[in-house]
Amino acid sequence: MATAKSARLQTPADRNLRNVVLGDLLFKPWNQSVYPEDLVAKDTDRLYVCRWCFRYSCEEDVFADHKRACEHRTTPPGTKVYDHGGYAVWEVDGEKHKLFGQNLSLFAKLFLDHKTVFFDVATFLYYILTYTDPDEPGSYYVLGFFSKEKLSWDANNLACILIFPPYQHKQLGKLLMGVSYKLSGWDSTGGYIGGPEKPLSELGHKSYSRFWAERIARYLLRGKPGDNPRESNQQKLNSTPKGSRKRPVREAMTVEELGLGTGMLTEDVVTALKSMGLFEPQATPKKRKSNRTATEATEVNPPPGQMVTISKSDVWEWAQTHHLSLDDPVSEKGFEGLWPPVIVSAESDDSILSEED
Ligand SMILES: [Zn+2]
Repeated sequence: MATAKSARLQTPADRNLRNVVLGDLLFKPWNQSVYPEDLVAKDTDRLYVCRWCFRYSCEEDVFADHKRACEHRTTPPGTKVYDHGGYAVWEVDGEKHKLFGQNLSLFAKLFLDHKTVFFDVATFLYYILTYTDPDEPGSYYVLGFFSKEKLSWDANNLACILIFPPYQHKQLGKLLMGVSYKLSGWDSTGGYIGGPEKPLSELGHKSYSRFWAERIARYLLRGKPGDNPRESNQQKLNSTPKGSRKRPVREAMTVEELGLGTGMLTEDVVTALKSMGLFEPQATPKKRKSNRTATEATEVNPPPGQMVTISKSDVWEWAQTHHLSLDDPVSEKGFEGLWPPVIVSAESDDSILSEED
């Protein structure tokens, strides 16, 4: 079902849907629609999609009626796992919310040309990113999502990620990527966390390279994600590195150590270091005891024990050139009290934990 063609190479004639209306926003699909052809005819001018539950209709009246009655107009399905600064992430189990998962997948496929749409939604968890405007209490916007296989043999912490076109270029992808690592960290018993499903699309590769580079730079300059949340790190970044750091200017580390420190796969560590122009492998890989399986280790190139030389001043330079904020895109505070889900008593009518049937 995935198309090999790049979305931008498609001519309008290739598309069987000209415009999509999400809530009140009209924009153009990037890819051919995979909506059922008997419901969304060829050359449909406008498809109306509910901004809360992703149900769809070609008829404006039907859509208007649905908007007034949508069961998710005040609260998304699933369980809230993150909440900070108006942004929240909700975990939606595809098995419990099949229709939601299918409708979200159909909509997302308009903008994901790379990944197959999985209609077997029961095997996936969906993490939807919402924003609640303080001026519009009682409602919310879904800005994007990522999906994750419930059981991944390849340590994938993310299958598909999409920020909907009207909300792109606001650093929201980094927020979702950060949440995906954080959630995997809780699941993980060993040191490694994982990474997104490969191969990545061109856009995915670009986004992840930058996200990983920033993650590594933060780790090297500040410490493990979530450390020192009280410090005013931005101030330190703007000062000169000399005299402000006690650690040696050049450090030899293994890619595995960087992986363990950032929760990233070693192959992703190498991708990030290369994109930063900081990949300086040392000649003799040092043998290290690894808790990864032999199969995993052979897939990693170079090996986890590969020593690299990290020049702190180069990392500082990269950080300053790229205007890196040392504050994580994800706030640790956003998870407080939300994970693991709170068990509510039977008498409670807490709608956050209620499920649709
Ligand atoms: Zn709806």
